[in-house]
Amino acid sequence: MQLFNYHKPTSLDEASSLYRMAEDPIYLGGGMTLIPTMKQRLASPTDVIDLSGIDQMRGVVVSRKSVSIGALTCHNEIANNAEIQSTLPVLSSLAKLIGDNQVRNRGTLGGSIANSDPAADYPASVVALGATIYTQDRTISGDVFFQALFETALEPGEIITRVEFQVPTRAVYQKFPNPASRYAVVGVLVADFAGEIRVGVTGAGPCAFRARDMEAVLNRALDPDGLQELGLSEVEFNSDLHASGEYRAHLLHVLVRRAIVELVALD
Ligand SMILES: Cc1cc2nc3c(=O)[nH]c(=O)nc-3n(C[C@H](O)[C@H](O)[C@H](O)COP(=O)(O)OP(=O)(O)OC[C@H]3O[C@@H](n4cnc5c(N)ncnc54)[C@H](O)[C@@H]3O)c2cc1C
Repeated sequence: MQLFNYHKPTSLDEASSLYRMAEDPIYLGGGMTLIPTMKQRLASPTDVIDLSGIDQMRGVVVSRKSVSIGALTCHNEIANNAEIQSTLPVLSSLAKLIGDNQVRNRGTLGGSIANSDPAADYPASVVALGATIYTQDRTISGDVFFQALFETALEPGEIITRVEFQVPTRAVYQKFPNPASRYAVVGVLVADFAGEIRVGVTGAGPCAFRARDMEAVLNRALDPDGLQELGLSEVEFNSDLHASGEYRAHLLHVLVRRAIVELVALD
């Protein structure tokens, strides 16, 4: 790791101003991705701006229609928060499936979403649950947030402050985890918003997306066997040492089918 300046601001304004003044700055959330990247010298920032002292980025606000979660909230807090468990149980169960205990105690919601790792779990929930991403200056719809491999709609210097998820009538997350890291080889979140089905997918393509062809079929009939003939020609499937594109396409069908079976049983 190369030498860098470390800062720990206590407000968003201070963090933004430090970012503007530094030569090659980067924000630090839980550090679960950033620190190994710096150790491997894949990133060598001049200034690391630790966001963990900004209280404005903490807290969970639950209402009947939405759940708003501060970007610094770690995965284990989301897994174990009683209000999230009762209002948006799918998000708690998704968080429980992330990595291991150490990763869940350090990794943050904001860091995971900002990173847009193609195999991360939360992105499926952001697109499926009609989430809104809040930054210092604006809101960004979850539908347009993930743009490409490790690329989001965030501008340089922009900080995710919180994420607000809409509460569906019922929802299920299914993932096929990599046995070593627990990252999703493919993960799907199927949500039912009073009869409107949304399918969020992670792991399958360069970034999370909604499987709109599947949604169209499922919105006609919520039948686990209704997707068999669907080719998903619009999806560019990832192919790497963990799984071929063909295997991921098959997994996507299997996981959505399992999710529908589970969703229907929630009635
Ligand atoms: C061994 C291991 C296993 C893992 N398994 C899984 C898994 O199964 N599923 C899964 O989803 N994830 C997994 N992860 C990822 C982990 O859960 C974290 O979510 C991820 O590392 C990023 O979150 P972080 O808070 O650590 O961010 P950091 O590492 O601190 O930052 C990551 C990036 O996001 C930026 N950033 C951080 N916070 C913000 C913010 N609020 N606003 C703007 N930019 C920000 C940083 O500048 C950096 O570019 C795993 C990680 C490890 C090390």
